[in-house]
Amino acid sequence: MTVTRFAPSPNGQLHLGHAFSAIVAHDRAVKDKGRFLLRIEDIDGPRSRPELADAFRADLEWLGLEWEEVPAQSSRTAAYQKVAQTVLKEQHGVLYPCTCSRSEIAAAATRMGPDGPIYPGTCRGKKSGDLHAKAAWRIDMAKAVRIAGPLSWRDEILGIQKATPEIFGDVVILRKEAPASYHLAATLDDAQDGISLVTRGADLFQATHIHRLIQALTGLEPPVWHHHDLLLDEGGQKLAKRRNSPSLTDRRLAGEEGVRLADMLRSGNLPAGISLGR
Ligand code: GLU
Ligand code: ZN
Repeated sequence: MTVTRFAPSPNGQLHLGHAFSAIVAHDRAVKDKGRFLLRIEDIDGPRSRPELADAFRADLEWLGLEWEEVPAQSSRTAAYQKVAQTVLKEQHGVLYPCTCSRSEIAAAATRMGPDGPIYPGTCRGKKSGDLHAKAAWRIDMAKAVRIAGPLSWRDEILGIQKATPEIFGDVVILRKEAPASYHLAATLDDAQDGISLVTRGADLFQATHIHRLIQALTGLEPPVWHHHDLLLDEGGQKLAKRRNSPSLTDRRLAGEEGVRLADMLRSGNLPAGISLGR
């Protein structure tokens, strides 16, 4: 059965790009007579605001979508820690603590990756005791890739992809003073929730290399991915970055018709100045 999800983070209001993403996931589940799940990704510490999750539900309802909600990430943090400790750290020995600051990393880095400077490996040789919150925990990428062996994954649009998580270097798996990184939490949750098709924006395409690696190391069955086009503004920038564009909540409270807006997004009849692309 097709199981899709929409997994917003409650650290800002939803905008048209989120609406499009939710509609893609929802409509696909409906078409396949599957399930569409909502998962609130609220492990961003003080940046996560519970009242925004309520607004998300109201926004989705306003768009005319129906969903099943699964537990929010904040209620699953013990599972993230357990997998990190027992599988990544004890079984595979691929986690190490890093106490470098952002500016230290920027100063020492010699290469750029998809998410900015590649971690130069300063702390890689550090002895690692038990997982604790005083450090970020990074993955020894070269070692992890050796253990996992060659991996691939399937994108519905672009076909079979060779997994190349090494383009990111030693990414953070457990954030300092936060329960997990997005990569670990989302990967474990997608498996836990039985997601068969991960639909999300093309801006997260590269992250899938890391997720595929985490699945291999933790023995999880990979889903299929569908990285959809993004809504772009006049300058060709991803809509999220656009300032002064009304949020879904703004539109809802202004009395705009959500179901009509959803149908416009479905039909590609986009508001002035907005286009689809990647
Ligand atoms: N919480 C992530 C976001 O809002 C979701 C990413 C995903 O769909 O995997 O960007
Ligand atoms: Zn470090």
